[in-house]
Amino acid sequence: MATKLIQEKTIEQWKSDYPVLQEVADINEVFWANPHYGEKANPILLKAENITEAAERLVRFAPYIAEVFPETAETNGIIESPLIKIPSMQRHLEKKYEVEIKGSLLLKCDSHLPISGSIKARGGIYEVLKHAEELAIQAGMLAYTDDYTILDSDTFKSFFSQYSIAVGSTGNLGLSIGIMSAQLGFKATVHMSADAKTWKKELLREKGVTVIEYESDYSKAVEEGRKQAGEYPNCHFIDDENSKDLFLGYAVAGSRLKQQLDEMGIIVDAEHPLFVYLPCGVGGGPGGITFGLKKEFGENVHCFFAEPTHSPCFLIGQATGLQDQISVQDLGLDNRTDADGLAVGRASGFVGKTIGHMLSGCYTIEDERLYSLLRDAADNGNIFLEPSAVAGFYGPVQLFRQPAGQDYLQKNKLQHVAENGYHIVWATGGSMVPKDIMEAYYQKG
Ligand SMILES: *Cc1c(COP(=O)(O)O)cnc(C)c1O
Repeated sequence: MATKLIQEKTIEQWKSDYPVLQEVADINEVFWANPHYGEKANPILLKAENITEAAERLVRFAPYIAEVFPETAETNGIIESPLIKIPSMQRHLEKKYEVEIKGSLLLKCDSHLPISGSIKARGGIYEVLKHAEELAIQAGMLAYTDDYTILDSDTFKSFFSQYSIAVGSTGNLGLSIGIMSAQLGFKATVHMSADAKTWKKELLREKGVTVIEYESDYSKAVEEGRKQAGEYPNCHFIDDENSKDLFLGYAVAGSRLKQQLDEMGIIVDAEHPLFVYLPCGVGGGPGGITFGLKKEFGENVHCFFAEPTHSPCFLIGQATGLQDQISVQDLGLDNRTDADGLAVGRASGFVGKTIGHMLSGCYTIEDERLYSLLRDAADNGNIFLEPSAVAGFYGPVQLFRQPAGQDYLQKNKLQHVAENGYHIVWATGGSMVPKDIMEAYYQKG
């Protein structure tokens, strides 16, 4: 068999040039600090102003959202999640891993985002709304200044029913897009990878969404979805690997988080750095949020991505600079993990190029540890999360425990201010997991 070459080098050569790849291939947990952190963006694919436009669009839709999803009435139709302090989990992690986590630990509960119970309620729902708005405006049925509650009517539902929306997903993106599309009246098709959980497929079918299942992984489901959608002119394909709209929907989290921190009296500045730990699949969710956070906090926020040891696609894309030209399968990994939202073998090239220089680092975590952290969060805070969503808890542990983490703190002159810092673990999903399945996760931990 001919040896596979990636940009004229064999995998062995790549490994010898970038030793972290060998560690990754050996399925060891790694902590990688990004040597290109803080460099200039090249090329600039999106501007910070684009986030404001997305935030304004979500405000236009808020009255409609409040009406059709009563659980958002409390926040006037703004889909947002709580930010809470978790001191007992912090003490527990310190004891368990014999490490001092300097500063305070907080949890961003996207697990409890209304409508679809995961981080995908940001990007996924945003892109569906944007598409609906564009269609309605083009048809002369809607103006930006209208009260958008008019969308909740037979007239609009029958208008949207002429159009369809499709997406490829490991589960949660399909849930968000399926639920939102069905509510507006669109025909929706979700192409699900083999790792998607049965309950997610069933829930979508109940809502009238067409679910197509694949034996293969996420990249294949996306490819098939993209191909099939391309054959229908009235079908909009939501492309998790390339979509700027999805990305901007996630990015709105930056200003929202700033507001929450303000309300809690937390100031982020050079003396009070903010560290954020985000579970990463293809990169859109954590990448968009990083983009939004950097706009708000600049060099005072430090974003780390967490990936399963079997699926560290973003880490290898960044470490080599190859972005989506390398997959975890190229390193001999199987891309199998119980962290279904993170079971992605090839990262988004668009996201990698857009935020690569903003990323502080990546680390990997074993599935077994995910279950153990899942149980810890339940026992030490009564917080129930899905396996992917707990990956962030390991971030502060590794930052303070690993030599590469210590180096990062030193290099960025954070040692003496770490005491005053804040660590936000981004909990990306879990509130919609059925009780019996959550119980099984807990027992496994
Ligand atoms: C999708 C997902 C992520 C990661 O988002 P990407 O855009 O795929 O990087 C993290 N956690 C959960 C629970 C998810 O569903």
